[in-house]
Amino acid sequence: MLYFDHNATSPLHPAARQAWLDATERFIGNPSSLHRVGARADAALSEAREKLAHILGCDALDLVFTSGATESANTVFHHAARTLAPDAEVWLSAIEHPSVTEAARHHFPKRHRLIPVTRAGLVDLAWLRAQLRSRRGKEADRPHSKRPPPLLGGYPGLIAVMAVNNETGVIQPWREVLDLCRDHGIPFFCDAVQALGKLRAAGLGECDWVSGSAHKFGGPRGVGFLKCPAQGRVEPLLRGGSQEEGRRAGTENVPGVLAMVAALEAREQARSGARVASRIKFARQLLEALPGAEIVAAKSPRVWNTILALMPEADCRTRWVVKLDKLGVAVSSGSACASGKEEPSPVLTAMGYSPAQAARALRFSAGWETTEVDWQLLLDALVQAHSEMQPMRRSRRL
Ligand code: PLP
Repeated sequence: MLYFDHNATSPLHPAARQAWLDATERFIGNPSSLHRVGARADAALSEAREKLAHILGCDALDLVFTSGATESANTVFHHAARTLAPDAEVWLSAIEHPSVTEAARHHFPKRHRLIPVTRAGLVDLAWLRAQLRSRRGKEADRPHSKRPPPLLGGYPGLIAVMAVNNETGVIQPWREVLDLCRDHGIPFFCDAVQALGKLRAAGLGECDWVSGSAHKFGGPRGVGFLKCPAQGRVEPLLRGGSQEEGRRAGTENVPGVLAMVAALEAREQARSGARVASRIKFARQLLEALPGAEIVAAKSPRVWNTILALMPEADCRTRWVVKLDKLGVAVSSGSACASGKEEPSPVLTAMGYSPAQAARALRFSAGWETTEVDWQLLLDALVQAHSEMQPMRRSRRL
């Protein structure tokens, strides 16, 4: 099977598998136990924390291990709901993953605002800059006001913008948003799930909050992390234990964490140049082979592995996936969580695409081992699927 759905989940990296097996055999104790078997597991966990902190550029004590990015995002908004002023808002980009959007909606049903994105799939920095300036202006006009008053009504107490979008692969200007947040004294949360392993992670640790998920870069499923504000106190989402400095209760997944860090260390060594070239070649050939196809955000900076394409026909998204599956190719009809339901992708809608256009979207997401030959085979399968679907469409019209 040709696997082009790495943005949904990616197979285990050999280094992660080895680290997991070693850890399961060597670190059998519970890191919270006082005996030496427990202490050894605790030491291994601390070492992994140090390594991850080094990769991200933060303090090891800023890191909390979680079950994945969904838990991490939920922790951020849970914490925000319990610590921000009662009238503070949360602002998030209109293209965040549902784990961020839904958590924000749940905790801030009337106090969340979506930051628009451009047709190119990039968060609208000009909009954000103007909004923050006008709000600060209003406060600065107040007599005797101390600037900046970060937590007043209509003012964001938290801004969330992802590093890379999971559907389009567009690299978001998270650093510029971070700088804006710094200027205005607003905490910044960056969902870095689709960036980690594909782009260098250095600098992400400067964000107040960062989420990551091992299974997107060759680690095991069910393990991730949350980078928190400097060694800060976090209102725990999970209670019932003092693990992770009281920030996340539950026995730590030592083999999972060690395997996650091993995978990320390995991915950090990988170079992307040749991979970008394969993707560009595929995109060009796809447009030639299937007139009417369109590459979404073709001119925007994107990660090397992702292509979101609108296929030529309007009614065929799920049929394409099924047809390609029969031909031995796994692709996605959008984000992992959204596929299966026929609502238009909120990402494409936010970019200004119509529901009919969004219904034509197919996502191809390659992995680190994907070769140029694999891209060619994907193209061949698409051409074959298209030709086999043509007679079906004609007979349905009769
Ligand atoms: N954020 C993004 C951008 C994602 O793509 C995903 C998974 O698809 C998640 C968060 C959720 O990650 P997890 O599977 O670790 O809960």
